[in-house]
Amino acid sequence: MFCPKCKYEYVEGVKECPDCQVALVEELPPEPELEYVDLVTVLKSENPAVIMIAKSILEGAGIRYFAKGERLQDLFALGRFGSGFNPLLGPVEIRVSRDDKEMAEELLKDLK
Ligand SMILES: [Zn+2]
Repeated sequence: MFCPKCKYEYVEGVKECPDCQVALVEELPPEPELEYVDLVTVLKSENPAVIMIAKSILEGAGIRYFAKGERLQDLFALGRFGSGFNPLLGPVEIRVSRDDKEMAEELLKDLK
């Protein structure tokens, strides 16, 4: 059971979120798809460490992002760290909404 407001998960039997005083739901509604908004690439890198830093910076700033090509990165991430290079994988592009472009570019400028 989940609180639709704070997204906190509760054990079976709890009917209401004590923090938000709203009824819990079986499943959270899916996150709105970021792909539908106007996305622009603000960073492109083949280095998973750079992508990781970029993501934590954007998360810290509350900027929503979409990482293109990241599925493969995740798949190989565990084996990759340390070697730092995997010729099978292409670059990952960090994309943000056009509204967040300037702020994201400013935040990530040191990573380029
Ligand atoms: Zn709640």
